Amino acid sequence: MRNFQNDTKALALNTATLGHNLPGYGAGWEAEKLVDACAERGFGGITFWSQELQTRAHAIGNYTRSAGLDVCGLCRTPYLTGSDAGSDDAVLQSIELAAELGADVLTIVTGGTHPGTKGLVDSQNHLAERLQNIAPIAEQHGVKLALEPLNPMFGGNRTCLMTVEDALNICKKVGSENLGIAIDVYHVWWDTRLGETLQNIPPTQIFGYHLCDWLENTTDMLLDRGMMGDGVADLLAIRRMVEMAGYQGYCEVEIFSERHWWREDPNLVLDTIVERYRNYC
Ligand code: ZN
Repeated sequence: MRNFQNDTKALALNTATLGHNLPGYGAGWEAEKLVDACAERGFGGITFWSQELQTRAHAIGNYTRSAGLDVCGLCRTPYLTGSDAGSDDAVLQSIELAAELGADVLTIVTGGTHPGTKGLVDSQNHLAERLQNIAPIAEQHGVKLALEPLNPMFGGNRTCLMTVEDALNICKKVGSENLGIAIDVYHVWWDTRLGETLQNIPPTQIFGYHLCDWLENTTDMLLDRGMMGDGVADLLAIRRMVEMAGYQGYCEVEIFSERHWWREDPNLVLDTIVERYRNYC
């Protein structure tokens, strides 16, 4: 297991952690300012969100790389299932944006239950069918796709994948090398079968690992994520399982925290992340 005590090369920031870097919202920092702040603190990578890039994806990607950081990801495709599913064109646009940014991985939050159906099976089948068409297009653009299973409380309108096992089954069904999974501690911390699930998967199947914490008394399931060390998720145990499955990539801090961390000075948030990463992750 990697030792992060004196090494932040694998530390990445998901810009959602600062409430996104949109003017007048969250940190409100320009992308360049954010990149500089991460570079100064020894971060290795950044994951952006589509809405932050507008027409500047190429320039922001280049600026990030010139500062010595990787663009490890872009969030995300439109939903692929559920009432709010995006069109094929909208999905293609997100792939093109990831390519323009030079992001290694494009994250997929699947969307909820396929209209007119109940339960998960039909939705998962529909998801697999769409991915069979999408994965080759992403491959042509040099973009990897990461399916992120969500905590079951997000079923219905946000996801039809609730466990890592669900996501791996879809990968198996689709059978594309550029389709893998992202594991987020917020979504898997409760899963006592995670270690078992991750045994014997292909060592290159995990494309991302996301950090935050589950607060003992969470007040908002979407926007009250905790800072690492403040909650009840066994972060070291989860990382051990993920690394035993072959993952050696970035540990991306992704904290949606409307009432706490988004209101703090972004410099304090970034400093806290580095300290917690070294000692709790
Ligand atoms: Zn995540």
